[in-house]
Order: sequence, then C-alpha cells, then structure tokens
Amino acid sequence: MSSKYPETLQALISHLKKLPGVGLRTAERFAFELLRWKPEQLATFGEELATLPENITTCQTCGCLKNRDQNKPDTSSCQFCDSSLRDPTSLCILSSPRDVYSIEETRAFKGLFHVIEHLLSPLDGRHASALRIDRIAQRIEQNGIKEVILAFDSTLEGDTTSLYLKEQLSSYSISISRLAFGLPVGSSLEYVDGGTLARALFGRQTV
Ligand SMILES: [Zn+2]
Repeated sequence: MSSKYPETLQALISHLKKLPGVGLRTAERFAFELLRWKPEQLATFGEELATLPENITTCQTCGCLKNRDQNKPDTSSCQFCDSSLRDPTSLCILSSPRDVYSIEETRAFKGLFHVIEHLLSPLDGRHASALRIDRIAQRIEQNGIKEVILAFDSTLEGDTTSLYLKEQLSSYSISISRLAFGLPVGSSLEYVDGGTLARALFGRQTV
C-alpha cells in the first residue's frame, strides 16, 4: 500500500505507533513534531535510542535495571542489591522492573527486590519455567529471607502466579503475602498511584 507521506516519515510513524497508547493520529503528530527538532537534538535522541541495549542491562541477582558499567563484570550487583540500608530478610517479587520504581517511591518497603520475567499465562504459552524458582529459592536461602511480598497486577495472571509461587515456596518457613489493592480486579500496578500502592503494601495479606 502506498503512503501519503515520504517513505522515511512513514517508517518513523510506523515505529511510533508501536508504542503503548499511541494510535495513528498521535504517531503522526509526534513524527511531525520531530521534523521540527534541531538536527543535533535528533542526533542525541537517536544516539540514546541506539545505545540503550549496550548501556542498560538487568541485574543478574535481582532483575532490576542498572547501567552497564564497562569496568565492572556483568555479575556485579545493582543499587537495589547493594545498599546496606536495606532489610535483607524481606523480598518483594514483581513482574516488571518498572514496578520496582513504583514500590520504591512509596518508601513503605525497605527490603530486597526480585523481578521475574513475566506472569504465568499458560494460555499464551508463558509457563512456570520462566519464573526460575531456583533463583528465588537461592535468594531465600542465602539472605535468610523471612517474608516474601508478591507485588503483581490484580489480574488472572497475577493471581495464577501468586498461587503457583505460594505452592512452590511452601517448604520454607516464611510468610508470603500479597498486595491488598482495594482496587477493582484487573488493575495493573503501573497505573496505581503512590498513595494507593503504599496502602496496598501496608495492608498486604497473607496468601
Ligand atoms: Zn540487583
């Protein structure tokens, strides 16, 4: 199908459209706005995009995001694992590195984080092997974890994953709780405001 726009502009619009919440109209608006940017602004933006994979990586211990440091091995810990101010006996398990920042902003949790790759969704072919229970178990044993908090979306996938983890970790004498949302079922953590999230943390319920 031929486009009404020059090819390069059309390609840019197609990319922008892939972003969440961006439809065709918005993508077009963004693209035309970018056309007005100064060449050096575009170059900086382009450089930031191009170097994302080499500059950002996930911590091999906890799965949180961190800057890739050329002088340190990839196995070095991150700011969330490092801090001596954190409580090493409490572990919050999440399904997205982005949610770590939401929890952190509440200042209601001072323990360690553990990010799993994604929630269980057998229908979509997302199975338990991706949860890497062995890594969670290892952290529980190594840190003498006493409490695990499951901070997942209030969705079917979140429920399924919580139940599965509870079962898998039942041999440890730890308390396992889940965020109490006080929000309609189906809510995603990324849309929950800080105050509500802090309440959800304080009101967490044993599963
Ligand atoms: Zn880490």
